[in-house]
Amino acid sequence: MQKSDYFSTYLYYLSAAAAGYIIDRHKNVKSLSFRIRYYDPRERITSFSNEFTRRPEDSAMFRFRCPVDYCRDGGFDLTELVMRMLEDERVTIKGSMTCTGWHYIEGKEKSTCGSKLEYEIKAVYYDRHETRTFWDILFQRS
Ligand SMILES: [Zn+2]
Repeated sequence: MQKSDYFSTYLYYLSAAAAGYIIDRHKNVKSLSFRIRYYDPRERITSFSNEFTRRPEDSAMFRFRCPVDYCRDGGFDLTELVMRMLEDERVTIKGSMTCTGWHYIEGKEKSTCGSKLEYEIKAVYYDRHETRTFWDILFQRS
């Protein structure tokens, strides 16, 4: 592990602590499901997709690594998007993001990464009239 890796790991945990948990951001969220597809217009990675679900007690940080191994300072941060989605109580958001990292291969010029992430996020909310206690949330009783 390089020195800079320790620093970025430290920053990662610092941001995760600052983001808190999904439940802190919106108390009526039941679940958030993600469908994510990675691809690269220059084909340095094979396209692939990933699906997963987050629960209210999970971290509210949604930062994903760039799948190009040698990409530096890259990645995709959907945290702000998700927070805005929850604030506006939107059910679905869709879009794409481009990696702003860069590549440096010896003997070649430094170039920008440009790999892409497409996202589709769905939120399920509890009805407003349903009151839930801390224990309902903890034991996931609806
Ligand atoms: Zn990248």
